[in-house]
Amino acid sequence: MEKEMSYGSDHKYIPATSIGSGIGIEVLPDLYNHTVQIVNFQLVGHPETKDFVLIDAGMPNSADEIIGATEERFGSDARPKAIILTHGHFDHIGAVIELVKYWEVPVYAHELEMPFLTGKMSYPEPDPTVEGGMVAKMSPMFPIEPINLGDRVEQLPTDGTIPYMPGFKWIHTPGHTPGHVSFFRESDCTLIAGDAFVMVKQEYLYKVLTQEQEISGPPRYLTTDWKAAKESVMKLEALKPLVAVTGHGLPMSGDLLSESLERLVREFDTIALPDYGKYVDGKLH
Ligand SMILES: [Zn+2]
Ligand SMILES: [Zn+2]
Repeated sequence: MEKEMSYGSDHKYIPATSIGSGIGIEVLPDLYNHTVQIVNFQLVGHPETKDFVLIDAGMPNSADEIIGATEERFGSDARPKAIILTHGHFDHIGAVIELVKYWEVPVYAHELEMPFLTGKMSYPEPDPTVEGGMVAKMSPMFPIEPINLGDRVEQLPTDGTIPYMPGFKWIHTPGHTPGHVSFFRESDCTLIAGDAFVMVKQEYLYKVLTQEQEISGPPRYLTTDWKAAKESVMKLEALKPLVAVTGHGLPMSGDLLSESLERLVREFDTIALPDYGKYVDGKLH
């Protein structure tokens, strides 16, 4: 018998949006980025082949929008081969249960993210006191209780490959969460970074304002290990990506991307690290 999947009891619609909401961008012929309210998901695969995966699963109540965008790109009744998660925060798994039921596809995530996806462990509470303005202050309303995907979620293969994503490898990029992963394709230096770093200013993340394109560290109020977060950004910068999509904000490429990433590494303590907050111990090296 199949086990019941369930969201955490604090799962709910979050009334936050950005001007990018509902907009999809074809970043590459086989990489599509779509914004649901304030978070991105990606469809990876060429529309002609029908072989594709969904990266992350949007905000609570967004299943119809994700299915709609998927069918618009891949045709009616199209369904991905799998859903691959960068991590399990509420804004990346918001519609995953509805999608798994509708498409009947497996979900993959990193081994260290499993407790948060199988109902075993809650994420640490967001830090509303962290430097970061209004977004941080509204963070106590963000769901943190674990979703339970039961046996529908599987661990990513240990050899770095990703099911149904030929050419891509997963890279462990902890810090924002323990089992956070990013995805990199060496042949054209394409990076899907999740929340390891994002492309929108911290204070604009959940605001009805411009999605000004500017690199930033991982979302502050939910990041608990800043030393690991910095090492993860260094790891990604060393790959010298030419195109990057992230969990929040617009895609970025070329010189702007390389210069922004270099600057984020060089000035991580000023750009990314909050000046104060309960998960900041000031002992970064
Ligand atoms: Zn996150
Ligand atoms: Zn996020």
